[in-house]
Amino acid sequence: MTDPRQRATELTELIRSASEAYYVHDQPVVDDAVYDQWMRDLIAIEMAHPDLVHADSPTQQVGAPIAAQFSPVVHGEGMLSLANARGIDELREWHRRLRDVLESRGYGDAPDQYVVEPKIDGLAISLTYEHGRFVRGATRGDGRVGEDVTANLRTIAAIPQLLRRPGAPPARVEVRGEVYLPLAAFAEFNAQRARDGLPTFANPRNAAAGSLRQMDSRITAERPLALWAYGVGARDGLEPRSQMEILEWLADAGFPVNERIALLDGIDAAAQACADWESDRASVDFDIDGAVVKLNDIAAQEAAGAVARAPRWAVAFKFAPTTATTVLREIHVNVGRTGALVPYAVMDPVDVGGVTVTRATLHNQEDIARKDLRVGDVVVVQRAGEVIPQVVAPLVQRRTGDEIPFVMPDHCPVCATAVVQPEGEVQMRCPNRSCPEQIVQSIEHFASRGAMDIEGLGEKTVLRLFTTGLISDVSDIYWLHERREALLALEGFKETSVHNLLTAIEESKARPWARVLHAIGIRHVGEVTAQALADVVGSFDALRGASATQLADADGVGPIVAGSVVEFLSSEANVRMLERLQSAGLTMAQEEPRLRVDGPLNGCVVVATGTLETMTRDDARARIALAGGTATDSVSRKTTFVVAGPGAGSKLATAERLGVAVVDEAAFLEILDGRRPVPSEETSTPGI
Ligand code: NAD
Repeated sequence: MTDPRQRATELTELIRSASEAYYVHDQPVVDDAVYDQWMRDLIAIEMAHPDLVHADSPTQQVGAPIAAQFSPVVHGEGMLSLANARGIDELREWHRRLRDVLESRGYGDAPDQYVVEPKIDGLAISLTYEHGRFVRGATRGDGRVGEDVTANLRTIAAIPQLLRRPGAPPARVEVRGEVYLPLAAFAEFNAQRARDGLPTFANPRNAAAGSLRQMDSRITAERPLALWAYGVGARDGLEPRSQMEILEWLADAGFPVNERIALLDGIDAAAQACADWESDRASVDFDIDGAVVKLNDIAAQEAAGAVARAPRWAVAFKFAPTTATTVLREIHVNVGRTGALVPYAVMDPVDVGGVTVTRATLHNQEDIARKDLRVGDVVVVQRAGEVIPQVVAPLVQRRTGDEIPFVMPDHCPVCATAVVQPEGEVQMRCPNRSCPEQIVQSIEHFASRGAMDIEGLGEKTVLRLFTTGLISDVSDIYWLHERREALLALEGFKETSVHNLLTAIEESKARPWARVLHAIGIRHVGEVTAQALADVVGSFDALRGASATQLADADGVGPIVAGSVVEFLSSEANVRMLERLQSAGLTMAQEEPRLRVDGPLNGCVVVATGTLETMTRDDARARIALAGGTATDSVSRKTTFVVAGPGAGSKLATAERLGVAVVDEAAFLEILDGRRPVPSEETSTPGI
């Protein structure tokens, strides 16, 4: 077994050098979880061997000595750290110890009330106001002496230069709070640094600290730092009786105070408030790594006092960490169903918030360059709540020089076609529509939930059907019933599974037109857009004839989607595939378009027959639909009128027999433009 003295010395060294990197250089070299574990191990050794505790042990100290370039500021009241509680049991344990101390000091009947605040992961600062005027601002430093950053703090809009509170301000007060960088600003800030070839920051806390601890306050001024105020230190002329009173005073004086902070009766309610903060942590625009539980009554706080580096009356309820560090081993590239080449990280397995992470998408080449990620880097991985894991940044200071910058392949990793990067797009693409990976992915998408929802047609089955040649595009799915024997011959397929699959395929034919639109995988057409599109373009017939301008005018569609629809339909293979789906009996029209097209053919049923000069028959159908009418193939008493071109045969005869109005192409164009009324039999174009 290791000698405890030797281990304590080792841990002290490790903690010291990590602290210096973190507090002085704002660039951590190890994960917080690792650092916290070292600290816990050292505390455990010191508890077992009290003779090993020294005044200069990290367990007895706060932060780190100040950096040489800053002037020292001695705090009027020490800026301490906080004891940690990992989980509800440790929170109760803290509460029990606190109540015991209060009891033993004659404060047993102090109200059992707690203020629960978010623990903002920023940088603690102390702002001194004399007679209402901001005179000095300092970092926490080692808790006793901080760094003078007054000029930099003056650039932060959220810090009042004069206290707003009506009435005489206190002669002197130290306001305590956390300077932080909002998450969106952090992402943008890191991106800019990578573009400028500077090392990125591992987290918003270090970025905020790095921004505030600048020698040139013009640099600080450019960073969108924000503030939450949560306490006061030394004060003269201000006598709050509770933490709640302090927060109210701060808010009145013009400081930002988080509105969700609440006063709770008893530790159970406080524990619940901590849990609520944890589950809502992703909903706020700043990083919180815990909730702080503070005894509300100030007289009782003073009676409880402090241990070496933390008050007894407050505790940090730590959330499960959402970040961890690991090694980025490789960058692979996936081909998506629309041909997009999507790089992803393959990392050494790491636990992030209780989930083992080995992969994370890297989106595109630009994103990788923006973050300056290199193969072999030690990287920070983040996962918050249900959010998928992301690689936040490399730990640049851990580089050995062997890391390799990543270059996107110039050929599709699946079909070896040269990749393209359409102008103005960040994504590189494989332009080969027959790229096997794209086909498999598009079939998978077609059958997925939210699309055609065909049970039993998941990733593996699609791949097997594709590689055995049973399907080569989505429409083939609807001819699988003719290949029953071939299906049965496949490994893992039995009578029942084949029956179930074919039934599910058959049932999918009833899915509404909007689902078909989503399933066929037109770029930019997700579930919602597909519905919007179906609402305006109620059928396949209408869709194939619609121009980009007509589509773009529709609510919820817009020019990008419109362009993408037109591009999709400009491919003969796609149109053929849709025609096959139509002939298989899929729902290719919306019976009751939710959003009726308001046009001259509202409520009309129109048949086009014969050869038309300015448009194909399909175009005619589309234009009828876009004008609000319904195009049908056979003439009946319900038909409003027939458009007849040269060569019209039996349909024209039927119309005449039934007394249905007939118009020629020129008249039809005028009707579409609203220049001529919809005909009844009497207004038929003479001569036909
Ligand atoms: P702490 O961050 O756990 O708690 C104390 C601090 O909480 C205060 O100083 C204050 O800045 C902050 N705080 C935020 N919201 C608050 C609120 N509402 N009320 C009161 N205080 C609030 O303790 P610490 O001593 O500053 O630092 C320890 C933390 O820093 C640990 O999480 C540790 O992992 C990390 N650390 C990491 C490394 C590393 O190398 N990765 C090195 C040093 C420290």
